[in-house]
Amino acid sequence: RDATWGFVGLGQMGYPMARNLRVKAPANDTLVIFDVNKDATKRFVDELGVTSGNVVVAGGLEEVVDRSGTILTMLPEPRHVKSAFNSFLNASSSPAGKEQKLFIDCSTIDISTSLFVGKSVCESSLNGRFVDAPVSGGTVGAAAGTLTFMVGSEPALLPRITRLLSLMGSRVIHCGPPGAGLAGKLSNNYLLSISNIATAEAMNLGVKLGLDSKVLKDLINVSSGRCWSSEINNPVDTAQREFKGGFGVSLMKKDLKLAIRAAEETGAKLAMGERAREVYEAVEGTEECKGRDFSVVYRWLGGDQRK
Ligand code: NAD
Repeated sequence: RDATWGFVGLGQMGYPMARNLRVKAPANDTLVIFDVNKDATKRFVDELGVTSGNVVVAGGLEEVVDRSGTILTMLPEPRHVKSAFNSFLNASSSPAGKEQKLFIDCSTIDISTSLFVGKSVCESSLNGRFVDAPVSGGTVGAAAGTLTFMVGSEPALLPRITRLLSLMGSRVIHCGPPGAGLAGKLSNNYLLSISNIATAEAMNLGVKLGLDSKVLKDLINVSSGRCWSSEINNPVDTAQREFKGGFGVSLMKKDLKLAIRAAEETGAKLAMGERAREVYEAVEGTEECKGRDFSVVYRWLGGDQRK
């Protein structure tokens, strides 16, 4: 039987994820898309609709649910996810005996909101199933279909969701019950928020000490300071593209805030969290850094000589 996929939120991440889903899923499957930004859905149809067929632009969120067996959401913040799921509840009830609708939220949000929206679709007349599946890998991984999905789910759903998520990513890691995917994501991004600042500081320090930035980058990447920020997203490289694109500084700040709140709720002590939050707030408040990739911390530190 041909499947129907719904995809809500065609932004930096959602757009390339939905494109991979459309291109890699069987041609007869239907992809139902929706974004409050009509330009995003128009661009998608212009790019894929005619050649691949079976792309439907829904008129609203209820229609996505009415027309789809599996609904993916990739939205910025908890409030967007809450609002979308609120609208989902207005969709038609699932007739008894029909396959249960599966909701997969890939947004990075707090665990409480995720559990709340999950409960809402599972306990409503939709009789849905819900999974949190935030991602790592950024826009590059989304475009290449090599994302890592961190999944919080009841085990019975795993074969179904692994098949689907493998169309958009290369790893699907089951972290535990609902909420566990987000626990993994928030812990990972906490580490990233710190290592990004430390990389920018170390690069700035070495260059100020007279080292060539390429020599320094290469030596770090074969030494104990090596990390994703030094290797894949080194600020001396992202400076070449004026820190455009990538993972926005405001999203990093949002994820760090979510991690700090989660730590407060569980009593986990964070020694660096507050200071890092202050740094991202200051970076975002600086005109030539606002809206750039989060490695723009390097420019804020005075490391990017062209500014
Ligand atoms: P984005 O802002 O580029 O895209 C979000 C999209 O959602 C936009 O197109 C927006 O119009 C749409 N939207 C907002 N509210 C909506 C609603 N109610 N209904 C329908 N559409 C709506 O954000 P993004 O960079 O794609 O990030 C999405 C999520 O993925 C965030 O939670 C982010 O933290 C996470 N994430 C991002 C990256 C990255 O590198 N950008 C990496 C990993 C995880």
